[in-house]
Amino acid sequence: SLSVRDVHLAFGANRVLRGASLDVGRGGTACVIGPSGSGKSTLLRTINRLIEPDRGDVLLDGRSVLGDDPDALRQRIGMVFQQFNLFPHMTVLRNITLALRRLKRLGEDEAAQVARAQLERVGLAGRADARPAHLSGGQQQRVAIARALALQPQVMLFDEATSALDPELVKGVLGIMAELSAGGMTMVVVTHEMGFAREVADTVAFMDGGVVLEAGEPAAIFERPEHPRLRRFLAQVL
Ligand code: ATP
Ligand code: MG
Repeated sequence: SLSVRDVHLAFGANRVLRGASLDVGRGGTACVIGPSGSGKSTLLRTINRLIEPDRGDVLLDGRSVLGDDPDALRQRIGMVFQQFNLFPHMTVLRNITLALRRLKRLGEDEAAQVARAQLERVGLAGRADARPAHLSGGQQQRVAIARALALQPQVMLFDEATSALDPELVKGVLGIMAELSAGGMTMVVVTHEMGFAREVADTVAFMDGGVVLEAGEPAAIFERPEHPRLRRFLAQVL
């Protein structure tokens, strides 16, 4: 399980997180929704320690991750970004094997084997030797997902993974994320896709002003929102 507890973080005078908390059970999926600037990306980045919080804690299976070696932690917590962040000069296969070789110290053949298995999982078995620029945005994002999965993380974080995609490519990527969730991956998904949140999430967390203002099952959040700010937000996006 993953537990974010009362996390505070300021960039200078800008108090971006003001006591944010979030719980995801093992194998659960939490979707984080909320207005632009509310701190969603920053919250995700504190979970895998791309940013260190000023205060508060992040627990993975009951143990704080804040003392862990960040490289080791990023094997346990995979992250997928809006911009896929693939290396353009490397083939798809090499994009995936790189971390396996550097972080997991796998040999070339073993790394390639793992990478090919993950590419198959995201429906891209045939594109191992292509360069990212020759793939569609949706395919590139699936490579980024395969790359994260290759490290066998316990948790996957998605930060608006489909926001940069052409509309017709969104469904395929959301489908892979839904499969991953159904397969028992523990996930935190920042998304504007309310349909995905409603169908896939166990918990929907609404962030505003650096805190999770309201969290609950999708039916409760979407059909019986309590906080006026959440009601206003839903009125705008639904
Ligand atoms: P969006 O929906 O637009 O992605 P968000 O909810 O993800 O928004 P964040 O990216 O977490 O919001 O940003 C929250 C606030 O933190 C914003 O005011 C932003 O300008 C500020 N911020 C984020 N990252 C940094 C940084 N590295 N340095 C300084 N300020 C930052
Ligand atoms: Mg963001």
